[in-house]
Amino acid sequence: MKSHTRVAVIGGGVIGCSVLYHLTKFGWNDVMLIEQSELTSGSTWHAAGGFHTLNADTNMAALQGYTIGLYKEIEEISGQSCGLHHVGGITLAGTPDRMDCLGAERADHRYMGLETHLVTPEEIRELSPITNTDGVLGALYDPLDGHLDPSGTTHAYARAAQKQGAEIVLRNRVLETNPRPDGSWELVTEQGTVIADYVVNAAGLWAREVGEMAGIYLPLHPMEHQYLATDKIDEVVNHGTELPHVMDPEGESYLRQERQGLVIGFYEQECDPWAVDGTPWDFGHELLPDNLDRISDAMAFAFKRFPVLEKAGIKNIINGPFTFAPDGNPLVGPVPGLKNYWSACGVMAGFSQGGGVGLTLAEWMIDGEPSRDVFAMDVSRFGDYCTRSYTRIKVRENYQRRFSVSYPNEELPAARPFHTTPAYGIWKSQNAVFGSAYGMEAVNYFAPEGEDPYEIPSFRRSNAFDTVAGECQAVRTAVGINEIHNFSKFEVTGEGALGWIDIVMAGRMPREGRLTLAPMLSPKGKLFGDFTISNLGDERYQMNASYASQSYHMRWFEDHLPDSGVEVRNISQQRIGFQIAGPSSRELLSRVARGDVSNEAFPFSVSGTCRSARARPLCKGFPIPGTWAMKSMCLPTSRLPSMTR
Ligand SMILES: Cc1cc2nc3c(=O)[nH]c(=O)nc-3n(C[C@H](O)[C@H](O)[C@H](O)COP(=O)(O)OP(=O)(O)OC[C@H]3O[C@@H](n4cnc5c(N)ncnc54)[C@H](O)[C@@H]3O)c2cc1C
Repeated sequence: MKSHTRVAVIGGGVIGCSVLYHLTKFGWNDVMLIEQSELTSGSTWHAAGGFHTLNADTNMAALQGYTIGLYKEIEEISGQSCGLHHVGGITLAGTPDRMDCLGAERADHRYMGLETHLVTPEEIRELSPITNTDGVLGALYDPLDGHLDPSGTTHAYARAAQKQGAEIVLRNRVLETNPRPDGSWELVTEQGTVIADYVVNAAGLWAREVGEMAGIYLPLHPMEHQYLATDKIDEVVNHGTELPHVMDPEGESYLRQERQGLVIGFYEQECDPWAVDGTPWDFGHELLPDNLDRISDAMAFAFKRFPVLEKAGIKNIINGPFTFAPDGNPLVGPVPGLKNYWSACGVMAGFSQGGGVGLTLAEWMIDGEPSRDVFAMDVSRFGDYCTRSYTRIKVRENYQRRFSVSYPNEELPAARPFHTTPAYGIWKSQNAVFGSAYGMEAVNYFAPEGEDPYEIPSFRRSNAFDTVAGECQAVRTAVGINEIHNFSKFEVTGEGALGWIDIVMAGRMPREGRLTLAPMLSPKGKLFGDFTISNLGDERYQMNASYASQSYHMRWFEDHLPDSGVEVRNISQQRIGFQIAGPSSRELLSRVARGDVSNEAFPFSVSGTCRSARARPLCKGFPIPGTWAMKSMCLPTSRLPSMTR
């Protein structure tokens, strides 16, 4: 084993091997992978091996398409078969909403250059005669769907990487990861010590434990998952060609052919988080005890959907764990707060997403940024708020919702309310409908009196439409208040502050007492953020952007700060704020603020004016707190708390 490497990848599952392959593909050959046992010793060996492009996030869907297209390439380079079966796949729709959802996916797919089609029940029966289409309205057909051999595929990535110069060290557990003053890492392993310029945590089922070695918490949790393989089924044998995959979201199941029988897996409601206190180091080559009771309802549904299953014998039952992040997407990229430490974990669909994860990480590490928008899998989308218990609750919710329709206006209920501002109780008493981002509750709108404070998720105009239109009208003609706690806030101070902001932001920086809008661009010209920058004087600036992106932005700032002369503090949770808007806003401001807020003293201008001012308490019991942060709703004057009317 060499003693120094440019990149050390920890973990030889499908993800670690894909990362290793992509680094070598882009010319970084001084790289190594360290695996505690044999390749595929974690979740990878017991995967069902299915792959597809379906993903609610368009960029993720495109990366899944990339992954599927990659298998031929690694087969050619490595000479190792991936055991590919490109049989196509159908996702059934049993409700009009599901049909809308599949239509939306289809539109995304076309935009991303993926060729999927909507098909009728008759066409479904032609493609998959074993499917009972009673109650089915249609389906999305994806010709790219298929399955493969998980072990062959992982070895194909690994061999291709080795052929391109990578080293793979097996039976060698990483015991410690220690940062060094020059930004490199010392990896203490069973076979000795390695110094690496970069570390990639691709430890899958053990990613939490490996993260702890570097003092970080990665928000992911393993869940148990079961699938069954049947004995030979005559209808399958007699079909002639291999049957396509059938995903039946209403039945929470996915099904495919395996030799002369079928494999069917379930994402059941009664699911179990696994290894809550940590993945044991001696786990790896065994399965978990099966639990058919847990999937009995889903199986009963499957017997109706696929009647051939009822008479089929069960050959084996697989119950294995694999990891999920709270929103089900991978955790990829540089870990905020740590230099040269990267994450490639939390991947719940390694054979649909592994290629995209490897590609993204390698591009990012080598070029400084990935070639497409990958925020949906950026490890920085979660912050400190994401505790162990929050993660576990959200991961369970995500598993249960694996086959639920994802609506564009949907707010998920688990672990809520989590963070709130002191104004939360007031909004709640006004029948607020809340949304949540980055763990923070924020008002989306106010439901009419007597109505449930709930926006019914839909692909069409929801029940909120008329109410929100009324709120907009009220702001247009009078005044409205917006709590802006769900904007992030950064304080920039120091003699070099202005010069530094000028470098990281596009646009002209404001004079003292003024504010401006400024996009933050990457060196390749991509939009990284949309900021409001206030010049508060005395070399002090406040920059506001998206609350949900605070860790993402802070990582960028830390990476681009000079050694001295500038300090950036994330004060998102320390400043509360309200925005008032509309023709009567100055009148409202004059009633609640001390000092002169007339047009002469506090002029309105396109670039904006900013000033520190002390507010009068609005009323008893309405605190203006010193801690907490800001955004969200429009409160029409008629619904303003009485003290501000
Ligand atoms: C029952 C089941 C069915 C599934 N079906 C599918 C499917 O059909 N399609 C699909 O795409 N996905 C499926 N999956 C999910 C898929 O298995 C995972 O997405 C994938 O295996 C994740 O791979 P990984 O490399 O991230 O993690 P892992 O496979 O867990 O690999 C991590 C590796 O890191 C090594 N490691 C850990 N710690 C250390 C250390 N300290 N030092 C050195 N090495 C270390 C481990 O030994 C292991 O080999 C299924 C999962 C299960 C459980």
